[in-house]
Amino acid sequence: MNQTTTESNDSSLDCFLFEEFIAQPDSKNHSQQVYLFENALRQLDSILKKRSVRRIFLVLDEMAWRSSGADEILDPVFATRQVTRFTKFEPNPKIEDVERGIAEFRRQEHDLIIALGGGTAIDLAKMIGAFSCQQEPARELATGAASLRGLGPALVAIPTTSGTGSEATHFAVVYVDGQKYSVAEPSLLPDIAMIDPFLTWSLPPAITSTTGLDAFCQAMESIWAVGATEESIGYATEAVVLAYKNLPQAIHDSTPESRLAMCRASHLAGKAINIGKTTLPHAISYAITSEYGIPHGAAVAMTLSGALAFNMGVTEKDCLHPRGSTHVKKQLKKILDLLGVADVQSACLAIREFMNRVGSPGTLEEAGIETEEELKHLAACVNLERMSNNPRTASPENLLEILNGEIFRN
Ligand SMILES: [Zn+2]
Repeated sequence: MNQTTTESNDSSLDCFLFEEFIAQPDSKNHSQQVYLFENALRQLDSILKKRSVRRIFLVLDEMAWRSSGADEILDPVFATRQVTRFTKFEPNPKIEDVERGIAEFRRQEHDLIIALGGGTAIDLAKMIGAFSCQQEPARELATGAASLRGLGPALVAIPTTSGTGSEATHFAVVYVDGQKYSVAEPSLLPDIAMIDPFLTWSLPPAITSTTGLDAFCQAMESIWAVGATEESIGYATEAVVLAYKNLPQAIHDSTPESRLAMCRASHLAGKAINIGKTTLPHAISYAITSEYGIPHGAAVAMTLSGALAFNMGVTEKDCLHPRGSTHVKKQLKKILDLLGVADVQSACLAIREFMNRVGSPGTLEEAGIETEEELKHLAACVNLERMSNNPRTASPENLLEILNGEIFRN
């Protein structure tokens, strides 16, 4: 990565405004400007002035707009410009929301899109911008029946949670007829990410916890992912350390420092999955969320320690990583070091204690999901694409052992 720091403030955490050149799987490099510091949002007016932006398409989570305090900062910025607000959508983007957004967007000319909210608002904005410039129906672009050619309008992503890291990725998740699709195109990476910890100060503990756990899991999985590179492991390592140290405080006794640290953890974890993608805990989590309503981050975290224990047992025979099982074990050993423990059992215990400290069930059993029938169903719903990025092949029996906790008893 090429990184040019052009501004910093005096916090002990390295806060920055910089230009990043993010490596993309297709080897085209797309740059992104990142503003990550206290009061970053106050820079928006000058950014818009510099780009002579008069007409804005705003994809807005209305709840977050008011509760985060963004309204007070941005009302005067928007008052002098023509702003189309797109607010009618539900959590987890659906293709119908994207289609409505595209229709609204096309109704008049816009110079730029701004997304303010969590992962849903940002993912929607990515798709509305990119799909609007193409003739093919949104459904075809979302499901891969038509290919995305890129080059939509500029996008400014302003996250109001510290979790998904969507502002740092070139993916967008969308549900089409109940099926989950992940749209991936280098140009979906937002041109500007404005990450202001101030917007997360008022988040309730439960949301801070589940979104923070998502960042923690995304970072952990990025260390063992088949798609990981030295660059993505670098981001992930820093994110694990920051989240492990700061998430409990951000939840129970929030300070500006812990909120800033979680913003940085979440952004770095996003940068890590942007390259390396997620693995087993994510693959198995989607059904836990859709069938039991357990928030994404909490659902992913429930199998994190099980996946760590399972992956530690990798052999040459069941290894999916091109660099082999010794390399995978070396990466997993790094995780033990980051958690400050000597063996995998202690690491699993540390992860589950961490989850308890942030008020989340450490296992499916603790969440009351324990009958064989329920667990077998969850194992059958696993996302195969994500599973192929896990360093060890898992059979349905393996998945069941991870889900029912037997992995710890072997
Ligand atoms: Zn996630």
